[in-house]
Amino acid sequence: MSLDLSDVTLTYPDGDTRLTALDHVSLSVPAGTTTAVIGPSGSGKSSLLAVAATLITPDSGRVVIAGTDTTGLSRRQTTALRRAKVGIVFQQPNLIASLTAAEQLQVIAHLSGGSRRAGRDRAARLLAAVGLTGQADRRPHQLSGGQRQRVNIARALMNDPAVLLVDEPTSALDHERGAAIIDLLTELTRQRGTATVLVTHDRGHLDRVDKIAEMVDGRLRVPTRT
Ligand code: ADP
Ligand code: MG
Repeated sequence: MSLDLSDVTLTYPDGDTRLTALDHVSLSVPAGTTTAVIGPSGSGKSSLLAVAATLITPDSGRVVIAGTDTTGLSRRQTTALRRAKVGIVFQQPNLIASLTAAEQLQVIAHLSGGSRRAGRDRAARLLAAVGLTGQADRRPHQLSGGQRQRVNIARALMNDPAVLLVDEPTSALDHERGAAIIDLLTELTRQRGTATVLVTHDRGHLDRVDKIAEMVDGRLRVPTRT
């Protein structure tokens, strides 16, 4: 259940011309492994995640999610595939201020039509997996930045995704808390068998990832083990 991008090119309108955000990018991420994508701001990292998440359709190339080629799928089919197979962790947690940590997760179960009890059980298990058992009833303002990011990660795992896409999860955290989040992500990736892409500008704590790829001006160089 891997993630495979082959020869993906993405351009955005840019005045009278087009800006190439992804330039013939290929990337294969096996299940249970983490690939870190590093590179300067504006190099195309978030665009790569958006394409892998099927949120943006590339100009050309293929995106295959857990064996399903997304080329030519309808919008409805793409949305269904994303809901079933893709977990996304954005830079900012985007938690709902009025909901507890457990409720943030239960909303996802509710949206995908599971039973209330199954949603509650799964939320409790995932909060335990990210080290937040004692914080399940806290609202976002009662959690630290690192704890909010853990809720964010647990929420992305509610649909048991095959592919986990994470955009700069440590940018608002200090070094130690950032390192703990990266460790948690690589561990969850192995335990749950997700194909994980982790975008980070921080080269500091990447010793736990399986592969490091570098994005420069829309081109991806794989791998550059440091
Ligand atoms: P990164 O995440 O590495 O900072 P992005 O993928 O956000 O890079 O951006 C890559 C390039 O594409 C940048 O030049 C950026 O300005 C441009 N870009 C990103 N999103 C859009 C958009 N929606 N419309 C036009 N240009 C965009
Ligand atoms: Mg970005």
